[in-house]
Amino acid sequence: MHYYSLSNPNETTSFSKAVVNGIAPDRGLYFPSEIPKLPASFFETIEQMDVHEMALTAIEAFVGDEIPRTELKRIVKTTLDFEFPVVPVDDQIGSLELFHGPTLAFKDVGARFMAQCLGYFNQQNSDQKVTVLVATSGDTGGAVANGFLGVEGIEVVILYPKGKVSEVQEQQLTTLGQNITALEVDGVFDDCQDMVKTAFLDTEITNQRKLTSANSINVARWLPQMLYYFLAYRQLKKKKQPLVVAVPSGNFGNICAGMIAQQMGLPIDHFIAATNVNDAVPSYLESGNYQAVKTTPTISNAMDVGDPSNFVRIQKIYGNDYKNLCQHLSGYRFTDDETRVAMKEIYTQSGYIADPHGAVGYLGLKEYLKNHPEKYGVFLETAHPVKFLDTVESTLQTKVELPQRIKALLKKEKQSTPISSYADLKAYLLA
Ligand SMILES: *Cc1c(COP(=O)(O)O)cnc(C)c1O
Repeated sequence: MHYYSLSNPNETTSFSKAVVNGIAPDRGLYFPSEIPKLPASFFETIEQMDVHEMALTAIEAFVGDEIPRTELKRIVKTTLDFEFPVVPVDDQIGSLELFHGPTLAFKDVGARFMAQCLGYFNQQNSDQKVTVLVATSGDTGGAVANGFLGVEGIEVVILYPKGKVSEVQEQQLTTLGQNITALEVDGVFDDCQDMVKTAFLDTEITNQRKLTSANSINVARWLPQMLYYFLAYRQLKKKKQPLVVAVPSGNFGNICAGMIAQQMGLPIDHFIAATNVNDAVPSYLESGNYQAVKTTPTISNAMDVGDPSNFVRIQKIYGNDYKNLCQHLSGYRFTDDETRVAMKEIYTQSGYIADPHGAVGYLGLKEYLKNHPEKYGVFLETAHPVKFLDTVESTLQTKVELPQRIKALLKKEKQSTPISSYADLKAYLLA
């Protein structure tokens, strides 16, 4: 298996190089040269298979022999060491809970898998330390920091906007120590993002340090998300109804990984992309014209993305054919008011507490199922409700109990370095 740049099919590389570099030299996103098909026997016995064996079978074709099977098995086991239950919300809808990992967000799986792969490649080639440089608006930073904590040969530098992340998120970024450094930027998320982009192009820095990114552009963060869909299917197979999956989407990495699973043969009948008012993709599905939107802040802020990077991968999967795409994907957008109404509806009807992102997924699913009553739907619950505590408590008029590990986290001592300009970042990286 090799990977090529979506900007130029002749620009090819190995899995390890794609992971270490993150993005192709021509700035294109890497895409696998082929999507392997799994045999029918795999799906016939999937519910009896050991979870880690199933995951290993699904992911190993994308890694090839660049990581030995025993090592890859260890990586899969440490990545997937928590539960992914489908919790029934009503008789036609289930919530696939992806938030039982260490930072309570679904990004834990991709971040851990990428960290372990990079750690392995580094052992093989230990002459140069790698610096993972990330800007975060909240969730990504915590998952990345946690995934990379203690990984040999890797230093992680996280930039976050001062006063613009929640208390839980800030504690997750700033209390780990070891190989993790948090830089508290006097500015907004876009300032953090701009500084990171500038650093990647700054040869004074790149001559001295090997920099890589850890967002869903990286194939090692993007591809393992396909496993969620296998995990959902194996729990729901006995229902024998066509399975549709609604994904609350921002950068569209998660849903795109699900589409890869479907191409491998996983019986998913249809995908539903649910967004907040940052609706470039639902608008494209209506009109056939793609236009980035200016980002609007919402209560489901991990999805405040105006120009989703992974959309080019989705188009590639469906042969850049608009009609073909529309047969596999529906898209809906929802306002914050609609999202709050949905959170209340889910809570009063079933006692289930959804976070604002999951609630957007639920709304998309409901909309689609109106015309497809014979199907069964799952929405992905991408974050634990306590990560968005203020919104959840004020919307539902109820107190949400903090998990024990969050209580412990809030007591830890914060360590961060304040910076206010690119010059500060550069000085830090060159020191
Ligand atoms: C990142 C994130 C999303 C969006 O996922 P994409 O892969 O970027 O579409 C949705 N919900 C939560 C809670 C997230 O952290």
